Amino acid sequence: MKTDKGTLFVFSGPSGTGKGTILGEYFKKYNDNKLRYSVSATTRSPRVGETDGINYYFVSQDKFKAMIDSDELLEWARFCDNYYGTPKKQIMDMLSDGIDVILEIETVGAMKIKAKIPEAVMIFVLPPSLSELKSRLTSRGTESADVIKKRTDEAVREIEQSVKYDYIIINDKIEEAVEDFRTIVNSQRLKTNNNKNTISEVLKK
Ligand code: 5GP
Repeated sequence: MKTDKGTLFVFSGPSGTGKGTILGEYFKKYNDNKLRYSVSATTRSPRVGETDGINYYFVSQDKFKAMIDSDELLEWARFCDNYYGTPKKQIMDMLSDGIDVILEIETVGAMKIKAKIPEAVMIFVLPPSLSELKSRLTSRGTESADVIKKRTDEAVREIEQSVKYDYIIINDKIEEAVEDFRTIVNSQRLKTNNNKNTISEVLKK
């Protein structure tokens, strides 16, 4: 049976806004194996508890530059002194196999994706307020004061970009944010445009 192409979801929001938690809770609750998380490459050092190949591919600056030169990245951007990029091949293969893919990326890279793949579904996660964001970043305890300052400054620039996205999720109560995310994924899957092959298959039976 010929399957319809998968949807590319782009998931952005300031550092500390809870993007990772929303996706983690969604996968735990709904066990959605038609949606895959794309593992990015980064030059940032691993945080405690992060594993190479699961959270990120942790690479050197030289390796990252080589990936750019050999056109292995769908997009890349510099964020708070480190490079981050989305490996291309695996994602394109999954999409053509009918699997939906989610990229958790910052806004500069997200806009590059929107320019290259206009049908990508753009979702932005907002914190309830800037002060709440700062206190979440501080209590997470994974970054130094200097990095927290850079990331909160960056948050304002990122939130200004949110108007360019298709959907906004406010992460005030995590369970509600997870349900909002599920609603967006489901409605995308139910669109006629994403079911053209399914319609022809029904007519064959
Ligand atoms: P963190 O260092 O907190 O893991 O990530 C910092 C920022 O980089 C986050 O907004 C995260 O979503 C973003 N990011 C992670 N992977 C990629 C990627 O492949 N490309 C881009 N453009 N941003 C990424």
